[in-house]
Amino acid sequence: MSGKETDVRTATVVGAYPPWLPKLDNDGWALRSESCQTPNYGVRRVALVRGEGTRVWDADGKEYLDFLAGISVNNLGHCHPRITEVIRRQASALVHCTNLYTIPMQIELGRLLLDHGFADRVFFGNSGAEANEAAIKIARRWNRENRGPDRHEIICFEGSFHGRTMATLTATGQPKVKTNFEPLLEGFVHVPYNDLEAARASVGERTGAILVEPVLGEGGVRPATREFLAGLRELCDERDLLLIFDEIQCGLGRIGHLFAYQHYGVEPDIMTLGKSLGGGLPMGAMLCRERVAMAFSPGSHGSTMGGNPLASAAGHAYVSELIQGNWPARARETGEYLVARFKEAVGTSANIKEIRCVGLMIGIELYARAPEVLVACEEAGLLINVTDGQTLRLLPPLNVSREGVDLAVQILGEAIHAHPAEEAT
Ligand code: PLP
Repeated sequence: MSGKETDVRTATVVGAYPPWLPKLDNDGWALRSESCQTPNYGVRRVALVRGEGTRVWDADGKEYLDFLAGISVNNLGHCHPRITEVIRRQASALVHCTNLYTIPMQIELGRLLLDHGFADRVFFGNSGAEANEAAIKIARRWNRENRGPDRHEIICFEGSFHGRTMATLTATGQPKVKTNFEPLLEGFVHVPYNDLEAARASVGERTGAILVEPVLGEGGVRPATREFLAGLRELCDERDLLLIFDEIQCGLGRIGHLFAYQHYGVEPDIMTLGKSLGGGLPMGAMLCRERVAMAFSPGSHGSTMGGNPLASAAGHAYVSELIQGNWPARARETGEYLVARFKEAVGTSANIKEIRCVGLMIGIELYARAPEVLVACEEAGLLINVTDGQTLRLLPPLNVSREGVDLAVQILGEAIHAHPAEEAT
């Protein structure tokens, strides 16, 4: 993003309120939401109505610097001109038609992904969870067809997050996601993350695959070690297991390479993508090697909307821009700059436990009061979030400007300094 960042704390330019929306302020929208939505998201203070680049505006007209990017969805900022133009064009040509017909834009996006990575084949769904469902299903079928009916078990990791459908929440390594949804699906075991020996020890007669996030996202922005992922690859080769990388949060440029596995130099057999893949429209994908892909046959899996023309066109524009703009490598540099500036600004705070950064996936673990820091940032005009209890998570657009980073660091630094951990004061 070029051009000067507006100082969101003193901004006087109020984003235009979309004229097609009822005229309500943030509180009005919170009440309206409470009256009709299931309560799984809790109360939300801010109703966002417009975005442009790294900035968004709420229903009160307040401007924010968006360092969450819709949890790594708006990875080239809001309303990127190239993506917006393609959505407009495709929406006036063909929005949807089902996978009963060939969808040319879906093929174009698929080819683009395959031409830049290890995989030979792709399946498109509408979300990250659906991509992981496809991965779990194809791993089961591949094992049944190639190794016998009992090898359906998947080794997963503590702290991981793979989605909210029944299979993916079972695969998830966080008890809070599973509470009262029992009985869960059979065939998932969990071992500590980054613990190769534990993974090795848990392989048994029934094991068919290993599912791992190269960087735990919801689990607190915790990167795998190279040795861990390389060791899992070796283990899978030795025992003829499928290695599945869930790159839904850390893939597509976020950690400084188009795909996260390229950062580690370890290739999986199956990779899942989601979040930013559709350029802001709902989309997920499961990519795999030829020998795995052949476990699916006509009718074995599918999706009505998966990879529809509109989402595919937006995704194609997004991935093309990512590659042509060299945004993953630039994101890596921006991430290094951000952390250096942050350490300069906040290095003296005794409330900081650990800073974890890979590319532009940044976790700042505090000893205490992360939720209060989050609210202070929000009030000062910076959107971030908290994950795994006390970790501030920053997932800014990959094309954020240095000025944007400077401003975010300043706001964040002030918020952290204003909230020392009790025991640290
Ligand atoms: N896998 C990972 C690593 C994720 O971070 C997420 C979402 O946060 C998912 C899967 C699920 O994606 P979705 O919410 O699109 O179903």
